[in-house]
Amino acid sequence: MPLRGAFAGGEADWLPTPAAPQPRRLDRAVSALRGVGPAVERKLARLGLRTVRDLLEYRPRRYERAVPERRIADLFADEEVVIAGEVRRTSVRRPRRRLAIVLARVADGSGEIDAVWFNQAWLADKLVPGTHVRLRGQLRRGEFNVRSYDLDGASETADYAPVYSASEEVSVKKLRELVAAALVYARDDWDALPAAVKAERGLPVRADALWALHRPASEAEAETGRRRLAFDELLVLQLGLLRRGRARGGVTAPALPPPGELVARYRTTLPFVLTPGQEQAIAEIDGDLARERPMDRLLQGDVGSGKTVVALYALLRAVEAGRQGALMAPTETLAEQHFLTLEELCAGLDVRVALLTSSLSAGEYEAARTAIANGEAAIAVGTHALIQEEVGFRDLAVAVVDEQHRFGVEQRKALAEGRTPHLLHMTATPIPRTLALTVYGDLAVSEIAKPPADRKPVVTAWVEEGRSSEAYTRLRRHLDAGRQAYVVCPLIEESETSVARAAEREAERLRRAELHGYRVGLLHGRLRPGERRELMARFHAGELDVLVATTVIEVGVDVPNATIMIVQEADRFGLAQLHQLRGRVGRGAEQSYCLLVSRPKEQLTDAARARLEALVETSDGFELAEIDLELRGEGELLGTRQSGLSDLRFTRLPVDRPLLEQARDEAERLLDYDGPLNDEVGRIFAVADDARLA
Ligand code: ADP
Ligand code: MG
Repeated sequence: MPLRGAFAGGEADWLPTPAAPQPRRLDRAVSALRGVGPAVERKLARLGLRTVRDLLEYRPRRYERAVPERRIADLFADEEVVIAGEVRRTSVRRPRRRLAIVLARVADGSGEIDAVWFNQAWLADKLVPGTHVRLRGQLRRGEFNVRSYDLDGASETADYAPVYSASEEVSVKKLRELVAAALVYARDDWDALPAAVKAERGLPVRADALWALHRPASEAEAETGRRRLAFDELLVLQLGLLRRGRARGGVTAPALPPPGELVARYRTTLPFVLTPGQEQAIAEIDGDLARERPMDRLLQGDVGSGKTVVALYALLRAVEAGRQGALMAPTETLAEQHFLTLEELCAGLDVRVALLTSSLSAGEYEAARTAIANGEAAIAVGTHALIQEEVGFRDLAVAVVDEQHRFGVEQRKALAEGRTPHLLHMTATPIPRTLALTVYGDLAVSEIAKPPADRKPVVTAWVEEGRSSEAYTRLRRHLDAGRQAYVVCPLIEESETSVARAAEREAERLRRAELHGYRVGLLHGRLRPGERRELMARFHAGELDVLVATTVIEVGVDVPNATIMIVQEADRFGLAQLHQLRGRVGRGAEQSYCLLVSRPKEQLTDAARARLEALVETSDGFELAEIDLELRGEGELLGTRQSGLSDLRFTRLPVDRPLLEQARDEAERLLDYDGPLNDEVGRIFAVADDARLA
């Protein structure tokens, strides 16, 4: 097979780039480029641009349109065009303080016109008579308003000039200059793909791809470049995922005996019957636990679909086998919440659950640690602290990891030790099906597609600020009927401390105004763990009517009696986040409501409007995730950041789905290849090792 051969060193179909690559050059700091001093370096760092490579891989947000070049005599109003000519004379006008207008009289063979720049007074010195200029802009009231310009050669004014995400400190123009300087080093980059692979997949040489990305002669050329770069990153991702899967191949975990008396009792104590989705997931878990190979399963289901009940089932399977279970959550609040839930469910089963987080008092921590070590605690709930070395389980058999993508490193560590518990990953973030392959690789997936049948979808309404008092009237009706409520405020402040202060002010205001006479608790990130736990317990027990919260309630909080939620300034939240928040209500049989309060519709961006409309329309998390993907574009989707997908700069999903599958095939071929490795292949593996993979 020619491809296998292509990976070997010195094969005829391997055509190395002429000059030996020197990829280290790309790892130099941006300050290696001319014109980048410490100040610019700091500003670039704030855009995440630290090395020459960062600049090279800074993907343009879009490209300027192609516009015609016109003679001055042929200009007509408002058409965006390029003109080229010579400066005759220049002047600066200052009609107001803080406003400087540079005027340059520009002539070509056909005529003359005044070109106008705003607030760039320093330009006047450069526009000396005789200077040749190319200007892109529009004719407006007899003057030529300049959008971009070139004093020597064309790049700014060129068709398809790249438009980068700039900042107030670093302009697009500056970024273009810097990327141009970085492009000189494009040929120093590795091209890890064998020529045969490039030929088969229609992919250009990597350096050409980088040039095409930043200096395309057409949109199609830019796209070809982007695809190559996307392929590289997808290949690395897939290699990592496949290797992780294969690494697990050699790892063992003792099989558990079949389901016994404890889980049978557990089922009968539940106040409801399990949904078909839950039963299906449980059956799949039982199947996994019967094997010697460690379970590696993702339990995916929308908020409120009933994952926790399934997770506890898996933990109890360990307990009835005389071994231990662990549940790990990404935050302390979540861990505490899970603890409360599990403790309650386990109370009648005579199973002891311990909470272990790093914020326990020294005494509490020691006690929990001891109980876990000697096996008195059959189930441990905690944050990362649980898997830190100093916590030894007597005999851990099943670990449930909530929000699986945040645990990459620890998991890998456990793998490296060759022994691992059966793992069940839980995620409440629905990853669109179009992404599942990318994110999870070979992970087996159980999906709870439908919420419990008696669950009514949360009725969601979008309310403009001016009518928020009606939202509170509605909320008070629920409280008066004995229900509970959430009020969420998206406080955007400098620090957690100022968020806390602002939250306190808002809670105080609500206690005096809309929520006067009700018992209002305040949950924010600055509370001490003990306080937070107590607050949650009180809300759970119905001793508080309303929980005012910053976004810390986003996941995991489970109080079925809470039936209404008001989200203030909802336009500031992302779609996925709002969906998560909304999932806090509608957890019982009662009809629940979510009221999204926003600024007036006409003040919102299109995207914000689309988000709120989508939430009103549907409560299907998968559908929302697809919409989110469309609205936000690839790579920014919630859940992707934590999953390693944020490392995908060039991939556009779902468009690149076929490319993703190609990269997967290629990764498999690479892993199966057992001939001598050449440098290039070694390089791919090295990159795959470095990549932070879930
Ligand atoms: P998730 O973790 O998927 O967001 P939970 O497991 O926390 O969902 O379940 C949400 C709520 O639904 C909880 O109050 C739980 O007790 C309840 N619940 C779970 N399974 C069922 C079921 N089969 N029928 C009715 N209610 C259920
Ligand atoms: Mg849950």
